[in-house]
Amino acid sequence: MTAANLLEFDLEGLAAFCERLGEKRFRAVQLFRWIHQRGASDFASMTDLAKSLREKLSTAAHITPLKVLSRQDSSDGTIKWLFDVGNGDAVETVYIPEADRGTLCVSSQAGCAVGCRFCSTGHQGFSRNLTTGEILAQLWFAEHFLRAKLGGAERVISNVVMMGMGEPLQNYAALVPALKAMLDDHGYGLSRRRVTVSTSGVVPMMDRLAAECPVALAVSLHAPNDVLRSSLVPLNNKYPLAELLDACLRYLPSAPRDFVTFEYCMLAGVNDQPEHGRQLVGLLRQHAGQGIHCKINLIPFNPFPDSGLTCSDKATVQAFADQLLAAGLVTTVRKTRGDDIDAACGQLAGDVVDRTRVADRMGNLRRLTESPVIWANKGTVQ
Ligand code: SAH
Ligand code: SF4
Repeated sequence: MTAANLLEFDLEGLAAFCERLGEKRFRAVQLFRWIHQRGASDFASMTDLAKSLREKLSTAAHITPLKVLSRQDSSDGTIKWLFDVGNGDAVETVYIPEADRGTLCVSSQAGCAVGCRFCSTGHQGFSRNLTTGEILAQLWFAEHFLRAKLGGAERVISNVVMMGMGEPLQNYAALVPALKAMLDDHGYGLSRRRVTVSTSGVVPMMDRLAAECPVALAVSLHAPNDVLRSSLVPLNNKYPLAELLDACLRYLPSAPRDFVTFEYCMLAGVNDQPEHGRQLVGLLRQHAGQGIHCKINLIPFNPFPDSGLTCSDKATVQAFADQLLAAGLVTTVRKTRGDDIDAACGQLAGDVVDRTRVADRMGNLRRLTESPVIWANKGTVQ
């Protein structure tokens, strides 16, 4: 058997691995705590494990983190790492410190196949899914790096948002064990409310997540009607707004929070007009006749080269927020963090070898959506 990287396992997986080695399952708890709570990567340091087990582990297993290619520190305390995931691919992870929390923004894929118009990851194309170990290694590394930097034994990262590179629900099989390790009391012990999966709307996987590992849910909405949303988030062609919002309603009973967060990227002249606000209010208030318990998070568009888009100006963002607030929708405007190091939402591009030619398709898509026919439709309700 080839040696296993123990970062690939949630506790259940590690217990099964211990059994395969002829060890009792409970050994996995000790091992898991060493790895995730204490950041150990060397079996020799795990002094409360029997020597015979440590020897067995040293041939059958290893704990191998991702290689750090670079680290950038923003003037506002935000830190961005670029991790090598092999074969020319690299992914980014961002730590965002705030007074009452430390949030880690984690990547789930090298690139992204969804190809949203306003997202620099989407523009880069898709290379591959990250493994559970590669997702978890971002948290493992950041947590223990920050703990050492701050000189304490206290937990530093209190929140994880799956909002880095990639569409987490298009990498469901690897995502769920990683989430379970984040939530596990023997792992990072994060509450379900403090782990957020953000999705562009992979409807069937939203249902599976609700059943198998419900955590806080953020949905990237970005538009109040299907024509406009399909032009911004191509996945909308497969799972249009009515289906997406139904999936949100189905998710809520199992969600750890009693609302869904809708993300809405503010794009000048594209989705930020009073008519869009009016449509959005109508959509969210009346969906399925009952309205959806939600919060709206307006994200000022973070520009990147060749997007062909600009951010709505401050006054427009505020007017849009006021319009939603006046209609009774809880609305916040996201503060941009780490933009001096390109670590803000949608600026994460890492280094991806596009193996699906998404970037080519994106070029075609852009030509299409720039045609007057589609833009003329942008204000209509579907
Ligand atoms: N793929 C998932 C999670 C990663 S993107 C998703 O789309 O939800 C995280 C958030 O950043 C999403 O809401 C996304 O729409 C937003 N985003 C992407 N590009 C952006 C940009 N250039 N400016 C602002 N927000 C952006
Ligand atoms: Fe992928 Fe999310 Fe970017 Fe869209 S916004 S391309 S789903 S990472």
